[in-house]
Amino acid sequence: MTIRIGIADIPLSSKNNNITSGIERMKELDLNHIEISFVKKIYINKTKAENISQIAKKFGITLTCHAPYYIDLASEDTSILENSKNTLILNIEIANVLGANIVVIHPGLYSERNPSDVYRLIEKNLRDITDNYANDVKIGVETTGRQKSFGTVDEILKLCQNNEKLCPVIDFGHIHAFTDGGLKTKEDFKNVLDQFSKFKTLHIHMSCVTYTEGNEKQHTPIASKEPNFKYLAELLKNDTREIIIICESPNREYDATDFKKWL
Ligand SMILES: [Zn+2]
Repeated sequence: MTIRIGIADIPLSSKNNNITSGIERMKELDLNHIEISFVKKIYINKTKAENISQIAKKFGITLTCHAPYYIDLASEDTSILENSKNTLILNIEIANVLGANIVVIHPGLYSERNPSDVYRLIEKNLRDITDNYANDVKIGVETTGRQKSFGTVDEILKLCQNNEKLCPVIDFGHIHAFTDGGLKTKEDFKNVLDQFSKFKTLHIHMSCVTYTEGNEKQHTPIASKEPNFKYLAELLKNDTREIIIICESPNREYDATDFKKWL
């Protein structure tokens, strides 16, 4: 088992609210990974990224990025679509300088359209992007937590099986919300993991959630057991793949540390 445990964004207990200080704090906590959160905007340039990359290497912390939420690769508005593509390409370039091998995205919205039409649109728009960059960064496509957003487990699997520059991001909190509390037992977690058995590496998001009618409302601490991540820890103990777990709970590094103890 090669499992790296990290958090989204900067640790709450970081001395200063910036990435380099966050990296030092992660080392102190004996955690391994940060998913840099560009969810509102990409707030660093290549020079800064180069500097962060050096510090991350020095402290043995690996990095990935989460792209802005406004990206919508299913938009029929050409200016929104072009802006989404340009943002994603910029994020991939920054990630490459950072030494971050995945940029996570929420691919887009259904906007009342037929899911198979939206699938084709997203597949094509992702292909336009992946055909046009040469570095090793992968686009991580995340499973959805809302009915209006593209990204069921089946859709994510199909996308990633057909384009090797894409990789699945399994967000268990999202899946739990989307299925209106579907992850009740260890077997439920196993069923999800089994669907991704073809992939040699797994990128996982972890947070408990509140939800209503198949839509996520809020992230909550792991102690709320919605879903119960002890089951996931038990299953991953025996998994031989390379796995990265990103804790996105409101308690970030504290919950990540607890999860580590369960492994
Ligand atoms: Zn996300």
